[in-house]
Amino acid sequence: MSRFSNGARKGGHKYIFVIGGVMSGVGKGIATASIGKVLAARGLSVNLVKIDPYLNVDAGTMNPTEHGECFVLDSGLETDQDMGNYERFLNRDLGPEDYMTSGMIYNAVIQKERNLEYGGKCVEAVPHVRDEIVGRLKKSAEKAQSDVTVVEIGGTLGDFSNALFIDAARVIHLQNPSDCLFVMVSYMPIPGTIGEMKTKPTQNAVRQLNGYGVQPDFLIARAAMPLDEKRKEKLAIQVNVPAQHIISAPDVDSIYDVPINFERDHLSDILLKALGKRGKQDSDMNEWKKFAAHAHNGRKTVKIGIVGKYFDTGDFVLSDAYLSVIEAIKFSAYEAGVKPEIDWINAKDIQDGKLDVASLKKYDGIIVPGGFGETGIEGKIATIKFARENKIPYFGLCYGMQLMTVEYARHVVGLKGANTTEINPKTPHPVIDILPEQKEKLAKKDYGGSMRLGAYPCELKEGTIARAAYGKKEISDRHRHRYEVNPEYVEQLEKAGLVFSGKSPDRKLMEIAELPKSVHPFMLGTQFHPELRARPLAPHPLFDAFIAAALERKL
Ligand code: GLN
Repeated sequence: MSRFSNGARKGGHKYIFVIGGVMSGVGKGIATASIGKVLAARGLSVNLVKIDPYLNVDAGTMNPTEHGECFVLDSGLETDQDMGNYERFLNRDLGPEDYMTSGMIYNAVIQKERNLEYGGKCVEAVPHVRDEIVGRLKKSAEKAQSDVTVVEIGGTLGDFSNALFIDAARVIHLQNPSDCLFVMVSYMPIPGTIGEMKTKPTQNAVRQLNGYGVQPDFLIARAAMPLDEKRKEKLAIQVNVPAQHIISAPDVDSIYDVPINFERDHLSDILLKALGKRGKQDSDMNEWKKFAAHAHNGRKTVKIGIVGKYFDTGDFVLSDAYLSVIEAIKFSAYEAGVKPEIDWINAKDIQDGKLDVASLKKYDGIIVPGGFGETGIEGKIATIKFARENKIPYFGLCYGMQLMTVEYARHVVGLKGANTTEINPKTPHPVIDILPEQKEKLAKKDYGGSMRLGAYPCELKEGTIARAAYGKKEISDRHRHRYEVNPEYVEQLEKAGLVFSGKSPDRKLMEIAELPKSVHPFMLGTQFHPELRARPLAPHPLFDAFIAAALERKL
């Protein structure tokens, strides 16, 4: 029997460490988020921590086609897309102490060494780097003041890169044995030639974990199909985990069903018992269930075209590169009682004439999401012009707002050759530029790069689409960009009809641009990334307004 199965035990803050066995890509992040969700639904306060074992100091420098979207927190920390799922599942903001990479840890240790903080000792991976991890995990728990911290250790068992993190978890467990649980997310293959689910790779993975001095308390058995009782029993004996602690996790169509499925197996009950914690009698998942059901119900659709850049590696990766945008569309569409049908359009195809821009007419709404660099830029501008002239609801996210401004400057204000200096530093009309005072401010705050990152306040203008959508004057959303609307062009643009409906409180930075409803049903761009704040149970007001406009076009 597990050492935690005997019910209530006293202790302090609880930790659940989630580790992946057998192979990557089986949904460890969603399993972690779902564990957090089912515990939160029982009234516990939960924080989730993601550990990425790579040496990048943050996720900001990684190519989205390879690594998926970079998710920015309120604090401005650039993190992995799993953090987005955590925030969406928990419906709460996470802090910078809830994310760490090996690069971040080593960086801190090396800084301390340079500052002579190790008192002349030889600084080593063990204990110094490991203890830095232990310290940070404890700090995260302390900061969150939560009942339980669920920590996802990235990578797979057997990797070199996550060994120190597993060892840090072992040490925390050693210090507080009754306050820690280990969950292994494993995979059970069903080889086509055999047609039978195999548990051996999982057995081996558990042994591998045992080699680190860690015994899993729970197994989450990912597979194409549910794990049957026979295999569960067999696995239980082989890996020394009680059968009721082996949770079957078959493939699902919608990730939002995972916590619901976990609860069908009474996961929160079993976890609470193992942790020696009391929760609310009933699980408060009704709203979530209602939301999750939308993925399966409803026949009416809304057709959205996303004109973007990160397409090189095919659709699979693409959806990762714009993950939060897709989810934000879903949440608002579900709330409106419809299903989104999302198409990917490569801006370069429009630019090169491979795709006629007029083919965009079939969409109820068009989005140009965030991006960097010049690939497909003229294709995006052509898209925006087409959406404006044909009154197709258009939503520009960050780059999509900057290019909407460029398009307006070129074709309505008549500023020939207007551009962002990101593309043409010699443009006669730098309507989007890096502002000198911004440069100074950014330098003072010592951001890794030179980007405006994280949540910034914004004030909305009365009588605009943005103001109506948010229903209040002061808002805050998350940024990740270097360039801004050039204040020298604001007057000209405004005179020509572009409305800057959101500005920074000092009025220097243009945060939202839109056209009046009398001119266009929905032509709006945000300098920030509203998608980063869209949640299943709290869809983003601007996505709601965009979807509403798209549905109106459909009627
Ligand atoms: N490339 C633009 C900038 O740096 C937009 C960035 C973005 O869309 N996230 O300002």
